[in-house]
Amino acid sequence: MTTQEKLESIFAAVVQRNPGEAEFHQAVREVLDSVGPALEKHPEYADAKIIERICEPERQIIFRVPWEDDRGEVHINRGFRVEFNSALGPYKGGLRFHPSVYLGIVKFLGFEQLFKNALTGMPIGGGKGGSDFDPRGRSDREVMRFCQSFMTELYRHIGEYTDVPAGDIGVGAREIGYLFGQYKRITNRYESGVLTGKGLAYGGAQVRREATGYGAVFFAQEMLRVTGDDLDGKRVVVSGSGNVATYAIEKVHQLGGTVVACSDSSGFIHDDKGIDVEVLKEVKQVRRERIAAYVQHRPHASFTAGQSVWQVPCHVALPSATQNELDATDAATLAAGGCLLVVEGANMPATPRAIRVFAETGVRFGPGKAANAGGVAASALEMQQNASRDSWTFAYSEQRLRDIMRDIHDRCYATADEYGMPGNYAAGANIDGFRSVAEAMLAHGLI
Ligand code: NDP
Repeated sequence: MTTQEKLESIFAAVVQRNPGEAEFHQAVREVLDSVGPALEKHPEYADAKIIERICEPERQIIFRVPWEDDRGEVHINRGFRVEFNSALGPYKGGLRFHPSVYLGIVKFLGFEQLFKNALTGMPIGGGKGGSDFDPRGRSDREVMRFCQSFMTELYRHIGEYTDVPAGDIGVGAREIGYLFGQYKRITNRYESGVLTGKGLAYGGAQVRREATGYGAVFFAQEMLRVTGDDLDGKRVVVSGSGNVATYAIEKVHQLGGTVVACSDSSGFIHDDKGIDVEVLKEVKQVRRERIAAYVQHRPHASFTAGQSVWQVPCHVALPSATQNELDATDAATLAAGGCLLVVEGANMPATPRAIRVFAETGVRFGPGKAANAGGVAASALEMQQNASRDSWTFAYSEQRLRDIMRDIHDRCYATADEYGMPGNYAAGANIDGFRSVAEAMLAHGLI
């Protein structure tokens, strides 16, 4: 059997064993499409069935989460934690609270996470979790009761040396605080390293909040640097207006670019003078309003309901909302509008067909696995500070993040070159992450 045939048969088995999990299939396909050359160079990986083992999570936990709303009505949600791979360290990856969450989403995110974590070069394995609970429109006390119920089951599966969750969509500082409080109460342990993304008041780390967005922009900066270019004077469009998007916008502005549009699930805002980040934070983080409220503070800006933000022309696009939010039509629109670079702040925001359009039209592409790894890298730095009971300054933490992003960029770039695919960051990221995980798995024997 050729390597390609072997990979096709592994993929067919993954689809058959995990029916109905379209996002997981998509994430696996994307990796299998790139790792063929690494398997040819390392036949020992195939002999030890490394790929088949990587595609099967080490443990999958699904649990009931009952909670009571402010009117006394009982609700039942479903909780998930998929502990994908611990070859490189304790399972590490965020929790997502969003009504679309089901096992297939958690598995796609956990699968991506293990390669991403490997790329950071830090000692962390891959995992992911969440719930189909929707925090939007819920009071603080409802969110607290949900988080307490969620942790009442989750606590027995996690720990600083076992599995270390963090935030993701719908899980920010508020939720992490409630989750940490309940973990501490149940276990009677002040185990700071059990969760990352904590508040600065109780063991959190500087720059963790900003890290994913800042990191994606540092990655874009590196991609521009290798072609002798930079962000200065560039028009940028960002999708989303949550944690990743907000801090990506902030960093683009600090580096001389202008973000002219961003979005949420209701539509997008266009502000040709540049998105005012402080107004955006007030609307989305403080008041938890819909993004249309931005134009009340910046009357020259416009809000467009229910349409794609990718119709706004730009030099650099940073999709930073959710999976499969940028399709082939959007990709063609971006290319026609003069877009040079697409860098994924979110996980898997560009569809496979969109990525093909980028390749055909010469738009350079930075995959999320590499470009948004700044968040988890800063989480690993938070774990490091917790373990040594230390806390670093903002400036030092940001410098560490910048160095890590440059290193990830250079690894992807060099690996793509080494395997004869220059400039193909997706292949570089997949092969480099895969090699690190595979080597550790080989060393551990058949487990
Ligand atoms: P947030 O919850 O803070 O923000 C998510 C943003 O995306 C919101 O503006 C939200 O709009 C929008 N959005 C969410 N779902 C949809 C949808 N189905 N359709 C359209 N818009 C949607 O999440 P984060 O910023 O933390 O995460 C964004 C992405 O980045 C995700 O893919 C996540 O996995 C990834 N990521 C996050 C990391 C982190 O450190 N937070 C680390 C690495 C990756 P609305 O307000 O209307 O819901």
